[in-house]
Amino acid sequence: MTRALTVTDARITGETVGLRAVDGLITAVGAGVTPEPGDDLVDAAGGLLLPGMVNGHTHAAMTLFRGWGDDLPLMEWLETRVWPAEARLTADDVYWGTRLAIVEMLRTGTVRFWDMYWHGDAVARAVADAGIRAVVSSVIIDGGDSARGVALRPEVLDQLDAIAAFAPLVAPSLGPHAVYTVTPGTLTWIGEVARERRIGVQIHCSETEEEVLRCVAEHGVRPVELLDRCGLLGPGTVLAHCVWLDAGELDLVAERGAVIVTNPVSNMKLAVGGVFDYASARLRGIPVGLGTDGAASNNSLDLLADAKFLSQLQKHEHRDPAAMPASEAWAVATGARAPALGQPDALGVGAPADFVVVPADRPELGPGDLVHNLVYAAAGSVVDTVVVDGRVVARGGVVADAAEIRTRAFACAARLGVA
Ligand SMILES: [Zn+2]
Repeated sequence: MTRALTVTDARITGETVGLRAVDGLITAVGAGVTPEPGDDLVDAAGGLLLPGMVNGHTHAAMTLFRGWGDDLPLMEWLETRVWPAEARLTADDVYWGTRLAIVEMLRTGTVRFWDMYWHGDAVARAVADAGIRAVVSSVIIDGGDSARGVALRPEVLDQLDAIAAFAPLVAPSLGPHAVYTVTPGTLTWIGEVARERRIGVQIHCSETEEEVLRCVAEHGVRPVELLDRCGLLGPGTVLAHCVWLDAGELDLVAERGAVIVTNPVSNMKLAVGGVFDYASARLRGIPVGLGTDGAASNNSLDLLADAKFLSQLQKHEHRDPAAMPASEAWAVATGARAPALGQPDALGVGAPADFVVVPADRPELGPGDLVHNLVYAAAGSVVDTVVVDGRVVARGGVVADAAEIRTRAFACAARLGVA
């Protein structure tokens, strides 16, 4: 049985249009598109039809740790708060933490995210149940012990299969945490598996200067060079942060076609001291996306709010108001500057029916240019309706079962002793 949805009275770049989707794909868009009997209906009431955003790097279930261990230095925060609590996490905790994150992401207009967290099968189940899209990792940390890395391999592959079973909204990937937590032997194995299975890799890269200095001291090369030596730098690799790359590393990332996801709010909160050099990356043609990072280090998952930080941090850093125009920040947030993150480039016939409706009369959105107001004045709270795969997943700013999800997630946090 087919399922169909029709949006009426919507606006795309000033035109009043309708949009119809069948089985998750857009079949018609334009003036004169009307619903057929049995269609699910969305009356946009003159609202704006916009692409959804893609959160290119997060740890969704870390909503459980929101507000716990704030304002500590990065390594102290990881070693004294995050890692001990994560050692107690169950799959059930991760499921409810991820569901809570998805409520927040959908409410604020994110339709797809890239996730790196423990119990990837529980993350994948949460994604499928909630009806959002995600690339979910099978995570590996061998803690500098290559024998342990070898022993963990069967578990990593089992997780990968378990995650892949939640297709089509879920896609599997590999998530080696970082060069300071995973040995070169394990990184090399990850690269082999990724190529064999044709799947993506998500990894933290060059988040702090200390990480770079340690990599040079231990391996004689900088982090991007080490990843390349391990065969991990390719078009399917998403490098989160990349705050401290030098010119040679940027050249290498460009040459190999890897993707960078910048996380400006997390970087500022954890005071990493540097700023990802967007202009130099784009000059080389490197695809760039935007991520919130986890709710423990942001602490919000509102990507539209982060688009403003992205833009203003680049302006501030380069002492140039033109360094990141609003239109560029919007393009980065919607995944248009990094096609490998999986967002379709237009809401046209044949594209996945993933989009948001924003009421045109929101006070933040006028007067003046829409995209400028979206990035500089609005936050995700302007979003009213969200459609993913042709299904309405938020309506009137409300996500189904949000109250129960909140109760269940908070109970997990209380049991873990982090709330
Ligand atoms: Zn991260």
